[in-house]
Amino acid sequence: MKVVIVGGVAAGMSCAARLRRMDERCEIVVFEKGAYVSFANCGLPYHIGGVIGDRARLLVQTPETLKSTLNLDVRVFSTVTALDVSAKKVSVLESKTGRTYEESYDTLVLTTGAKSLKLPLPGMDHPAVFELRTIRDMDAIQARIAAGAKQAIVMGGYIGIEAAENLRLRGLDVTVIEKMPQLMGPLDPEMANLLKDELVRQGVRVLTGCGATGFEDRNGKIAVKLERGEPIVADFVVFAPGSQPNADLARAAGLKLGQYGGIAVNERMQTSDPTIYAGGDAVESVDLVSGRPVYIPMAGPANRQGRIIADNICGRDSRYRSTQGTAILKVFDLTAGMTGLNEKTLQRLGLAYHKVYLSPYGHADYYPGTSPMQMKLLFAPDGARIYGAQIVGRDGVDKRIDVLATAIRGQLSVWDLEHLELAYAPPYGSAKDPVNVAGFIACNLLRGDVALWHADEIDRLPPNACVVDVRTSAEFNLWHVPNAINLPLGQIRAKVATLDPTRAYYIYCRVGRRSYLAYRILKQHGLKVKTLSGGTDIFHAFHPTEQPDPCPTTPTTTAMNTDTKTARVVTLDCMGLQCPGPIVKLNEALASLSAGDMLEIKASDPGFPRDLNTWCRAQGHEFVESRNIPGGILARIRKHAAVATTSASASEPAPSSGRRKKTFVVFSGDFDRVMGVLVMANAALAMGNEVTLFFTFWGLSAIRKEQAVATPGKSLLDRMFGWMLPRGLSRLTLSKLNMGGMGTAMMKHVMKQKHVDSPQQLLTQARAKGAKLVACSMSLDVMGLRPEELLDGVEIAGAATFLSEADESNVTMLM
Ligand code: FAD
Repeated sequence: MKVVIVGGVAAGMSCAARLRRMDERCEIVVFEKGAYVSFANCGLPYHIGGVIGDRARLLVQTPETLKSTLNLDVRVFSTVTALDVSAKKVSVLESKTGRTYEESYDTLVLTTGAKSLKLPLPGMDHPAVFELRTIRDMDAIQARIAAGAKQAIVMGGYIGIEAAENLRLRGLDVTVIEKMPQLMGPLDPEMANLLKDELVRQGVRVLTGCGATGFEDRNGKIAVKLERGEPIVADFVVFAPGSQPNADLARAAGLKLGQYGGIAVNERMQTSDPTIYAGGDAVESVDLVSGRPVYIPMAGPANRQGRIIADNICGRDSRYRSTQGTAILKVFDLTAGMTGLNEKTLQRLGLAYHKVYLSPYGHADYYPGTSPMQMKLLFAPDGARIYGAQIVGRDGVDKRIDVLATAIRGQLSVWDLEHLELAYAPPYGSAKDPVNVAGFIACNLLRGDVALWHADEIDRLPPNACVVDVRTSAEFNLWHVPNAINLPLGQIRAKVATLDPTRAYYIYCRVGRRSYLAYRILKQHGLKVKTLSGGTDIFHAFHPTEQPDPCPTTPTTTAMNTDTKTARVVTLDCMGLQCPGPIVKLNEALASLSAGDMLEIKASDPGFPRDLNTWCRAQGHEFVESRNIPGGILARIRKHAAVATTSASASEPAPSSGRRKKTFVVFSGDFDRVMGVLVMANAALAMGNEVTLFFTFWGLSAIRKEQAVATPGKSLLDRMFGWMLPRGLSRLTLSKLNMGGMGTAMMKHVMKQKHVDSPQQLLTQARAKGAKLVACSMSLDVMGLRPEELLDGVEIAGAATFLSEADESNVTMLM
């Protein structure tokens, strides 16, 4: 039997090698149009980055080694240009000599791989635009870097991201351009945002939702023109925009193609001509979960399909079952793993599903070297099927995604995940493995032990919703969900009686553990309550613009400044501690230092860089610098001379020093006066102050809800006050020159023209930056207003609270 294989890398060589192992007498000819067979294309980006130092390690086999070990006839620089299926012949062009000839076959195998999606962009043929598919592409990029290239632009999916990381590791300035609103299409947007954050943290510029419109030469450099904004100029571009099946030969020979343009094959990998098999990136297959055609070009399916083809050629009944899109990607310190269907696909297919998020540690948190990973599990409403999973984290991602991929392949249910017995010792896992915990949470949901809300629902909460942050007040002050109120877990039992049973409580914490405990308390007191799945970590991933800025990090390769000759340097290791642990420890450590001393802190908590920046600003300490270290960051803070560090208890860090607090009393309900206060409050917040706005008498109008709220049982007098007092900021009028509303309208018009923020925008900004809104309880009572008529999140308090706030403040203003 004579078998001809077209394409000599993953699927082709896997097929050839298995074929020889199965049949010693078979004649096997492999045509490969490139210079190399069986090379490690997955390793190309890592040789560019210098991680795989020896180029020869990528060249797994040569025609000579394949001849001597497997007796294969491998012909490189040999392009198959046509198939004659009736004569069972292929036409071959030897690119080195220009010779053409025909080769006959009994069985033909098409493993021609994929080709890059071609975008019809002007200037695509510029010599500084490179693909990254072959050894030759890699060598060309290496040559550019060796010639002194300093800036690179990368466009593309996961190969692009791998290229971006490795170019950055070589010290280049790297910009990633992505037309879609998110990176890495196989992930859902919130999970992909975690990768974007990491790229940015490592100094890569990322432009999402911004397609390239063409390329232009700029004196030997290349300018990428964009859909919006100025062109970006660099020394070269790596263009890896995704793959399409290389099915040209099959199409020309009249073989059947599928809906994605891949060669159509049956389970035995036979094409529409039973003497021709095909596999790898050239074919499309069936999705394990949806049962629909799918095109997922990956090395695992290609290698398995090559083997299955060989089995069938040798007469075995071997079948390829399906593809499930299991993939893994390294992005600097993060790993992203995915398997099965994502949420976008479930929605597109109209499949009902549940989702849960969790943030378990890679291994026992008390054993060094771990940090929380973000895990998303998608499953059928009855729990019988697991649809998909996505995980982004620093350690232990590969193991969990593979367990979940196996669970999906084995058709396990979420109920089964609770019972998996997985290897555990502190350096490797936890007694409750993250996969078990995913099962626990999913089953809690299905059993009704918990009700969840998701961060993407924030704009669709019902009118009676009250968002409650159950973290400590220190965490709340660092950042909180806009309009949330703070009710720390430790105080819930004491305050549960004061909660309004007619409201729906949407509670949250950092990762979902404390809010689950709070949920169980509130639920057992008969309250309507839901807990945020994944906590603020996932909320930030959904709403990246809502999060505070992280502290800037220098590139991993750059040494930190060592301007510490005069200062005492104290080190603090918070690796493995989760929020608020690092901030609490930091606060404690600073208390024992003198002004000017330096604290060097190591932390693995992924939220810490953001907390640190906000905390330093709020506390007045100097943030000196930070850099990435394996598994976390190392940051330096200098204790500020004028700051006395507050005492802290482990469970509840004390609020920041009163010297940086401003209290504004809003007595007036006039547009201009309220506007003045809000401008001042925002300025104070921007300067790192804590701000409390105390609304009393006419000022209450500013924090009334705009829409009428039903208030059964109000007296006529109370109702009359309600009618007379303006409802919300948009109804306030000028204190002077109102002229029956004309003056106010003119003022609003002029403000808009001059791009001055409206009072509504200023109030939203102030709240987002942490301003506390307090309504005077006495004024509410006198004016006949009820708390539910005020904006959500407004606290009700009396004069004592105001006076203690004023006591802690260095400025108190009455407006
Ligand atoms: P290929 O391995 O591409 O082989 C096809 C071969 O056919 C090519 O060498 C081509 O020259 C040859 N050929 C085509 N037409 C002809 C013709 N007419 N005549 C003769 N020869 C022909 N997958 C993963 O799962 N994980 C990863 O980390 C990963 N990283 C990657 C990184 C890079 C940079 C690239 C390019 C790919 C990566 N992949 C990864 C994808 C993976 O390499 C492919 O899915 C896999 O190689 C597909 O195998 P294949 O045999 O179908 O095609």
